Amino acid sequence: MRSKDRSNGYEKSFRRILIACIRPIPIAVLLLLLPLSMGLNAPSDLGIGQKAESLKNNSSTENPSLWQVLDILKSKDYVDLTHSFKPGIPHWEGFPNETVETVFNFSTSGFLAQKFILVGQWGTHVDAPVHFHQGKRTVDQIDVKEMVLPLVVLDIHQKVSVNPDYTINMDDVKAWESRYGKIPEGCFVALRTDWSKRWPNQTAMLNRDRNGTFHYPGWSMEVLRYLYENRKITASGHETTDTDPGFQTAKDNYTLESYILGRDHFQIELLASLDKVPEYGALIVVAFPKPEGGSGFPARAFAILP
Ligand SMILES: [Zn+2]
Repeated sequence: MRSKDRSNGYEKSFRRILIACIRPIPIAVLLLLLPLSMGLNAPSDLGIGQKAESLKNNSSTENPSLWQVLDILKSKDYVDLTHSFKPGIPHWEGFPNETVETVFNFSTSGFLAQKFILVGQWGTHVDAPVHFHQGKRTVDQIDVKEMVLPLVVLDIHQKVSVNPDYTINMDDVKAWESRYGKIPEGCFVALRTDWSKRWPNQTAMLNRDRNGTFHYPGWSMEVLRYLYENRKITASGHETTDTDPGFQTAKDNYTLESYILGRDHFQIELLASLDKVPEYGALIVVAFPKPEGGSGFPARAFAILP
């Protein structure tokens, strides 16, 4: 068979199959389907406003549109968990102070531009894994999806008020879990000590005794292991300058911070206002600039309350 004849043959048999398929469908059904298919194309003929309205109306409670989710979020209370930063704020003693220089000002240039010189770990800040471990993630490599998380607050402020050297233990964590259930995977766990109420007094934050030893609260290895390895949390944060308690950092022991960063997780230090956030049910947004190769940077953290 020549190729033209062959293709004609295929065409004829295809048409026969098509007619055979369509014939049993009553014409009335086809007429019913017609407006439905036109309806499917209809949104493209709508203006943007109408489209949004139709999107909104079509979203169910089970599957709300993102704009509906935003309406819900905007109806909630927000708590800023960030200290403002400026020269002279409490910081790790090895770091130089911040300097701010006015590069252009209103009186001579008609606009304001400033030059900030500060160490990355300044004020409320993010510590990227590379801060302690060469080859681990830098600030710019932290995924934006890690910046909006469920917030769990472990509250030890009462114990800290009687013992500034207090470090969280598994009883504290189990008490939280007996009240609210399992700490969810992928969440942010903040340690509430109310130490941020000492801000911006460096002497009160460090709480040094006459031998030079610091006395401020901290995490513990058993709790961090449980949270990161068992509960698989994404990140953690605290109100003090360090992950490790003061009596350890006074001896240059940063084992706990090294543990978190060594597992390629980030942490937020010097959080504020955790006393205004519930232990369960809030969201945390942790945002920071994207310095390439950066080991840390001032962060903006806030909670959206349930
Ligand atoms: Zn830090």
